[in-house]
Amino acid sequence: MDNFEDTKPVATVSTIGEKIVETENLTVSFDGFKALNHLDFSMDVGELRVVIGPNGAGKTTFLDAITGKVQPTEGQVRFKGRNTKRLAEHQIARLGIGRKFQTPRVFLNLTPRENLELACNPKKNIVGTLFRRSNSSDRRRVISLLETVGLTAKADLPAALLSHGEKQRLEIGMLVAQSPDLLLVDEPVAGLTDEETQNVGDLLLALAESHSILVIEHDMEFVRQIARKVTVLHEGTVLCEGDFEEVQTDPRVIEVYLGKQEETEA
Ligand code: ADP
Ligand code: MG
Repeated sequence: MDNFEDTKPVATVSTIGEKIVETENLTVSFDGFKALNHLDFSMDVGELRVVIGPNGAGKTTFLDAITGKVQPTEGQVRFKGRNTKRLAEHQIARLGIGRKFQTPRVFLNLTPRENLELACNPKKNIVGTLFRRSNSSDRRRVISLLETVGLTAKADLPAALLSHGEKQRLEIGMLVAQSPDLLLVDEPVAGLTDEETQNVGDLLLALAESHSILVIEHDMEFVRQIARKVTVLHEGTVLCEGDFEEVQTDPRVIEVYLGKQEETEA
């Protein structure tokens, strides 16, 4: 387990109470429409936070603002205490933010092992990674990541043969390979079977032992499975926060979110 960053404890005595990400008065306008509206949010180092909210609540824009894909019109985002205002997207990523988009972005003609080797060595190109032998610490790290994401048995099959859920887990593994301080995960179980949903949930819970993770999600069963603290977004701002039970029984949440869902399901 030498040189193995994934096992380092994420919250140490020196980080207790520290914020991994905070927003203050964060407003993002598109032609005058406020997708985020004076949003105050903060999350501790080591937390697993789930953000829910109806369609159009501003969830994806919230992630875009954290990663620098969109700029605040007003207010600020602080990552590890640092205002990210003047930084470009790639600079913010390099500070330690890994983002998983909704659709998997793995190389389908490479195997899970090769995908993870590439992710461990973002500076090498594909040819270099595939034809040069990786060093033994990288190899051990890939073996351990394959284990973490539950793909050891399929390590050497083309990723094209993986199920949608397995691809999602592989991509989460590829993010983890880059040792980010904060993992942002946008709707990881959309379109997955119940069993795959459970697997992705178990993976995120395992990763939460050693990472700060912010998950955007719609699927309430999934939220119930993984949630500790839940933030409900509505019209670009925080409607309420609490544990799953509190949020689920909050009349405002039932009205704007769960109520709507029940209507569409009926
Ligand atoms: P969610 O992810 O919660 O469904 P989004 O963050 O995608 O919500 O969108 C929030 C609101 O902002 C929506 O009304 C959407 O139409 C609007 N919006 C998002 N991105 C843009 C954009 N680039 N230009 C204009 N409006 C946008
Ligand atoms: Mg969205």
